[in-house]
Amino acid sequence: MTATAPLPQWAQVLDTEGFRPRGRLTPQAALGPRTWFRVGGAAELLFQPASAEDLAQTLRHLPLEVPVMPLGACSNVIVRDGGIDGLVIRLARGFSAIMRDGDGLVAGAACLDMTVAEHAAEAGLSGLEFLAGIPGSIGGAVAMNAGAYGSDMAAVLDWVEVVTRDGRLLRLPAASLDFGYRHATLPPQSVVVRARLNGMAAPPAIIRQRIDEIRAAREAAQPVRARTGGSTFRNPDPDESQRKAWELIDAAGCRGLRVGGAQVSEKHCNFILNTGDATAADLEELGDTVIRRVHDHTAVTLRWEIKRIGRPATHVTGESA
Ligand SMILES: Cc1cc2nc3c(=O)[nH]c(=O)nc-3n(C[C@H](O)[C@H](O)[C@H](O)COP(=O)(O)OP(=O)(O)OC[C@H]3O[C@@H](n4cnc5c(N)ncnc54)[C@H](O)[C@@H]3O)c2cc1C
Repeated sequence: MTATAPLPQWAQVLDTEGFRPRGRLTPQAALGPRTWFRVGGAAELLFQPASAEDLAQTLRHLPLEVPVMPLGACSNVIVRDGGIDGLVIRLARGFSAIMRDGDGLVAGAACLDMTVAEHAAEAGLSGLEFLAGIPGSIGGAVAMNAGAYGSDMAAVLDWVEVVTRDGRLLRLPAASLDFGYRHATLPPQSVVVRARLNGMAAPPAIIRQRIDEIRAAREAAQPVRARTGGSTFRNPDPDESQRKAWELIDAAGCRGLRVGGAQVSEKHCNFILNTGDATAADLEELGDTVIRRVHDHTAVTLRWEIKRIGRPATHVTGESA
């Protein structure tokens, strides 16, 4: 265990003679540089456990009132400028193994979706190509039911292993997650540590071709190299509007709209961008402005798909005399 600044009071239980988890504990860890948007404050305490057992033991020791927030590749979150209270968990090396398992793959939650797609191609397993276009981790993919090009995690997940907030390691069948659009029902504050994905035998060359097509389609349609978070808003339910979120945003005149350093992408207007010096507050205000304008223009209320997490920055105005 390493620590660079004093541990918060509630975390003293993680640094005693009797218990010290293996892994890395970093108080006041800057999260902005770890996110796709490159915005946001610090984690009160960031924990990168060495193994699922270290994570489970840590959560067993931690008082239950301390909030726990797992993060993956941070490709679907705006971390607010005031940071995240409690324990933020990010899985790394001990959670990045990928193993062939019959007609599927078992992947650690820290594996990038793209890496899993590549492994599946090498192993001659089709059905996981859609992961090549999603820049998140397997943990985030399960939690968000990530999907693209006609497939999603709900279609391929066999089981998932989670560490629950009270420190139990559970294997849950996919059917128990009650998947919906970009949603899975996991036990509250639990951390996905491993997942088994089903595939189907196919020639690697055909799988690779499909992966290349998906990558090319992404490049053409989305600002994939920008500081962004993927689709900002969900598409409305068909009974509310037949138009997609980007069409409503375009019709409301929001393409290219700016708030501070945040901008609605000119290339794909359901993406918002940090053009360089945006704050999380700029991004959130831009999104809320888009929601208002689309509502004024079309009477449809867009809903955020990107998760906004943590606290807004607090402004200290000084003591009164
Ligand atoms: C350019 C771009 C294109 C994108 N295209 C797509 C797309 O086509 N389809 C799509 O579905 N998404 C897309 N996204 C969004 C994003 O990549 C996915 O939602 C992805 O699954 C998020 O994974 P992550 O690891 O980055 O999760 P994060 O952004 O870190 O977290 C997202 C949520 O998952 C939870 N979470 C993360 N890890 C864990 C874990 N181990 N255990 C429990 N909960 C966890 C977090 O608490 C949070 O609520 C895109 C994003 C970008 C930037």
